[in-house]
Amino acid sequence: MKRKGILVVVSGFSGAGKGTLMKNLLKNYDDYALSVSMTTRNPREGEKDGKEYFFVSKEVFEEKVKEDGLVEYACYCGNYYGTPKEYVETQLEMGKDVILEIEIQGALKVKKKFPSALLLFVMPPSVKQLEERLTGRGTETLEVIGQRLRRASEEADGIEKYDYIVINDDLEVCTRELHSIIRAAHNTVDRNGSFIENMRQELNVLVKGEK
Ligand code: 5GP
Repeated sequence: MKRKGILVVVSGFSGAGKGTLMKNLLKNYDDYALSVSMTTRNPREGEKDGKEYFFVSKEVFEEKVKEDGLVEYACYCGNYYGTPKEYVETQLEMGKDVILEIEIQGALKVKKKFPSALLLFVMPPSVKQLEERLTGRGTETLEVIGQRLRRASEEADGIEKYDYIVINDDLEVCTRELHSIIRAAHNTVDRNGSFIENMRQELNVLVKGEK
C-alpha cells in the first residue's frame, strides 16, 4: 500500500520554540517536508528569503490570494502570512508528511478544507519561560513582544480545537514525541478508510466464494 502523506499543522505561541523544534524534526527524520510560507513582515536579522519565508510586498501577496495560490492565509499582528499551495500538493503526492507551521486562524481553515489534517499545539513549559524566550530573542521591540503576548492569550482559548499538545521543555524529547504522534496518526481508522473498505470487500468475496 502506498503511504500517503499527512498534512501536519503546528501552531503555538510566539516564543514557544516551534521554529527550532521543526528544524530539529527535519534534521532527525526524513519523512517530512516543511512548507515555506509567504509573508509581508520584514525579515529578522539572519532570515533569508526562500528559507524561513518568502518575503513579499502586500501587492504580491494579494496577487497570490487572487490567483488562488494559497492553501490558507491570515493576518497576524498586522502582517499577512500564507501557505503556498503548489509545494504542499506535490509533497503530499510524494508521500511526505507536510508540516505547516502556522497560527490558529490558518490552522482552523486547513482543518475545514482537509478534515484529515493533524493539528498540534506547541506549548512552553510555563508562561514565565515564554516571556523570557520572547525577550531573550532580542529580535522584537517591547511593543511587538506585548502584541505577541496578547495574541498568545487569545490563541490559548482555541487550544481545544487541536488534536494534541506538545510541551517544548527539552528539545530532543519534544522532537521524539512529535515524531511519535505523527507516526501514530498514520494508523488511525479514519485515515485508512479506503484500505479498510478494500479489505472488507475482498474478505466478503472470499467468504462468498467458499460457500
Ligand atoms: P513569525 O512572525 O514569528 O515568524 O510568525 C508569526 C506567526 O505567524 C506564527 O504563529 C507563525 O506560526 C504564523 N505563520 C507563519 N506562516 C504562516 C502561514 O503561512 N499562515 C498562517 N496562517 N500563519 C503563519
